[in-house]
Amino acid sequence: SWLKRMSKDGDPKYSRQLHQEIQAEEIHKNLQFFSSRPHIAGSFQEEEVLVNYINNKWKSSLHGAKIYNYTVLLSYPDANDPNYVAILSENGVESEVSDKVEKILSPDQNDSTVVNPFNAYSPPGVIVGDPVYVNYGTVEDFQYLTRDLAMNLTGTVAIARYGKIFRGDKVGNGEKFGCAGMILYSDPADYVVGSLDKVYPEDWWLPGTGAQRGTVLLTNGDPRTPFYPSTNSAFYLDEKDIELPKIPVTPIGYNDAVKYLSKLSGIEAPSKWKGNLNITYRIGPGFASPYEKSKMKLYVKTHNVQRTIRNVFGFIEGEYEPDRYVVLGNHRDAWVFGAIDPSSGTATMMELTRALSKLLQKGWRPRRSILFCSWGAEEYGLIGSTESIEELGKVLGSRAVAYLNVDLSLAGNSTLRALATPILHKLLYATAKKVENPNPEEVRAGRKSVYDTWVKNQPSSQDPNLPRVGELGSGSDYSSFLQILGVSAADVRYNYDQKYSLSSYPMYHSVYETVDLVSRLMDRGFYYHQAVARIWGEMALRLADDVILNFDCVQYAETLQRIVNEVQSSYGPKLLQNNITLNSVKEAVGEFLEAAKNLQSRVEKVNRENPLEVRKINDQLMQLERSFIDPLGVAGNLHYRHVIYAPNEHNQYAASSFPGLASAMFDIENDPNQERRWQQVKKEISIIAYTIASAASTMQEHG
Ligand code: GLU
Ligand code: CA
Ligand code: ZN
Ligand code: ZN
Repeated sequence: SWLKRMSKDGDPKYSRQLHQEIQAEEIHKNLQFFSSRPHIAGSFQEEEVLVNYINNKWKSSLHGAKIYNYTVLLSYPDANDPNYVAILSENGVESEVSDKVEKILSPDQNDSTVVNPFNAYSPPGVIVGDPVYVNYGTVEDFQYLTRDLAMNLTGTVAIARYGKIFRGDKVGNGEKFGCAGMILYSDPADYVVGSLDKVYPEDWWLPGTGAQRGTVLLTNGDPRTPFYPSTNSAFYLDEKDIELPKIPVTPIGYNDAVKYLSKLSGIEAPSKWKGNLNITYRIGPGFASPYEKSKMKLYVKTHNVQRTIRNVFGFIEGEYEPDRYVVLGNHRDAWVFGAIDPSSGTATMMELTRALSKLLQKGWRPRRSILFCSWGAEEYGLIGSTESIEELGKVLGSRAVAYLNVDLSLAGNSTLRALATPILHKLLYATAKKVENPNPEEVRAGRKSVYDTWVKNQPSSQDPNLPRVGELGSGSDYSSFLQILGVSAADVRYNYDQKYSLSSYPMYHSVYETVDLVSRLMDRGFYYHQAVARIWGEMALRLADDVILNFDCVQYAETLQRIVNEVQSSYGPKLLQNNITLNSVKEAVGEFLEAAKNLQSRVEKVNRENPLEVRKINDQLMQLERSFIDPLGVAGNLHYRHVIYAPNEHNQYAASSFPGLASAMFDIENDPNQERRWQQVKKEISIIAYTIASAASTMQEHG
């Protein structure tokens, strides 16, 4: 009967069929197509060619597809007047002018629509000032310069190396500390291992002519429509009233950077500040003799433009719970060819939808609906995903079961790297165990599954018998799902070996991210892509077809306990000196653990033939993450509302646990207004305790 069928998990034969159906060679073909031309947000290739291709594919193979348009603020350099930096002599003569284009190293990079290196949302401007080397441009780096060295940075041109933190935070820091402009460069220490003559095209390391593009905006979504969608009826803030970076900034490669860094005057940089260029790293300010009268010139023509960007949604309608959506997403826009970021993910997503359409033909029908999202303008500050979350927030917020993001399929081919909220850890482990190891050497060594290599290479620091799942910060499209809607989320990819202390995969956001790089030097045969497609698909199948969602609320409780312990050991003594304890938080976590165990035991006993009971439990599991959302934002920041995890205040890429408290405690001893700051600490602790207790109450059966 209908009730009997509805009480059964998905047939495992469909999982096997899905794994078989996913073809490496198909992914390779997809990647060739998606990365054949540059496809920056707002371009014809991106918003017309690729959008229509995906829409047509999904329309013909899934149950439906739809395009959403948003007219938003983007930013481009001037194609006829490229950005550059140079040394300016006192007579106004420029020398050591930086490359205006990234040198073409093989014919496949030669395309008239390549957009030259720039940082999105930099204001245009010509800045002349003393150069100062600011290392990674972190708050600590700037504090070292201004506190320890008592340097005044007003009017200087900061030279910051890429890496460690989100570039927007570097620019924000430069602005705060008075710099007039910033030059971002990639140091070989962070993007090359080994000799500088063994770089691309010979190997996958960044050549000296490569420059990393990227946004320096610090908010998510269209900056002109915060919290509301950029649709036809939108009210657009005036450009002068919005939060945009205030100092000009542009990126260069290390072949250029060495020309300026080698000529700096001043003290030698501390050893942690030294990169791998063959020079003595100095801090400045200013150039050494014979350039002591010269200045650093920064010439930036980057400017903001209003353009239409698009999201494409593809839909598979669920049989029994069509109003519950398992959401899978990947962004489509790239800085240039994007063969890694994001097209390695797009190629995988298209193969996954092709494979699922084959399953549909064979009679599979998921219990819940599956929604595929191809996001536009992610590179500009998660614009596509954020605008859709604003437009469709009521529906997604009440119906989305989970959001599974794949930005790039792989940054390397060593091991799986997963980020997720604790409720999804168990499902990630189960999934990775079911996926064949794409590395033949690992298989020969007896590690047959993705999981086996993952747990070997990335053991969790709490329990070395489990692999590490990282925390979600920001920097990709899961951000607004988690931070605005409170939808449980995960982000997966294959990663390079962590023995390389790289800041990202070397060719990140450069013109050299081509299908040649991927197919020759990163994933010959596309087996790692295939593994990612299988992981993504397997997780989606389980979330769509299991009668009871495989959500682990007890893991959430245990994670909260660990966070409290960590916070206790790092802040406990300081708190105590101010007569503050974490007792209220500990108590709330105790209640949460109790409630989670209760819910878990109800999950085990549920009568699967009673659809109301099933729905009730699933609703509680699915809503749990929502209960961590504070509609007033964490420490007043409305872009980040998850009280347990939010992007780190000083590095948007990283996560911070109990972010409100972390923010209140940061550098507290240097705050002149001690009383106000400690009041803030008390307030944050009370919000955390309240939120956890309130989340616990949602797990009670009723009453
Ligand atoms: N993924 C893009 C980047 O890392 C955008 C990140 C963001 O704006 O948060 O540059
Ligand atoms: Ca908006
Ligand atoms: Zn990306
Ligand atoms: Zn990117």
